[in-house]
Amino acid sequence: MKLISFIMVGLLVFTAASAFAADEPIKVLIIGGQNNHDWKATTPHMKGILEKSGRFQTTVYDAPEKDAPPAQWDAWRPKFRDYTCVLLNYNGQMWPEQVGKDFVEYVRAGGGVVVIHAANNSFGGWKEYEQMVGLLWRYFTNGTSLYIDDAGKVVREEPGKGRQMGHGDWAGWYAWTMTVRDAEHPITQGMPEHWLHQKDELYHGQRGPAENVNILLTAYSEPGGKHNGTGKNEPIIWWVPFGQGRVVTNVMGHGVDVGMKCVGFKLLLLRSCEWAATGRCTIPIPADFPTAEKMSIER
Ligand code: ZN
Repeated sequence: MKLISFIMVGLLVFTAASAFAADEPIKVLIIGGQNNHDWKATTPHMKGILEKSGRFQTTVYDAPEKDAPPAQWDAWRPKFRDYTCVLLNYNGQMWPEQVGKDFVEYVRAGGGVVVIHAANNSFGGWKEYEQMVGLLWRYFTNGTSLYIDDAGKVVREEPGKGRQMGHGDWAGWYAWTMTVRDAEHPITQGMPEHWLHQKDELYHGQRGPAENVNILLTAYSEPGGKHNGTGKNEPIIWWVPFGQGRVVTNVMGHGVDVGMKCVGFKLLLLRSCEWAATGRCTIPIPADFPTAEKMSIER
């Protein structure tokens, strides 16, 4: 009898421990430090979004600034394996070789990565990084590009053919419509098929190895006139498997007030980090989520 009680208590303790483990905050490492965008403002903004949700515990560990003395780089050694998601807000010089190796090893072993906006401009020629991001800000001879045609089919443009990478003219930036291309994915589940994003910079013609790229959402890039886009449905959020890891790239979010206050961006950031880390999403669609007619901006 005593033994049975002991086992039962043991089971209860074990169950409680498992439930606690499931609800434990997801540890996210945010890296900025260099970027041609205002990372000093966008990093705290994204950190705030993650922390406020209660689902994440974040650590900011910025790379040394441009032209920092070598001793600073020698001392900079992110412990990627202490985290389940790495959020990259970095667009700058190449990391030290060992840091690069540690990062690739972390992703291969199952680590999650979320790449925001200009972070896909970074690290030209770093083969593994380009592989895991899939589509990057690269000259049009330097990789394959993807878009989705009117029938919903993925079209590949080979290196040197098709559209150049870039974004529309600043004066022509606009609130664009997001279109969900994979409604079954945990990140997009429950979203309206079309919803209006806050005025933002719309990347087009991103290039890269373009292997195993799973496009989750696109936006139509208005051609000509002040917008000066491509007239194509451009991939905006996609994911690529790399080893055991999941890498989500989101090219929205030029600045805190340019794209990053959209309730849609906010949810995508939360769900992308959660999914990259755990393979599932628990964060629901908020009541004020944008619709096809109405954008939703957090003030
Ligand atoms: Zn930008």
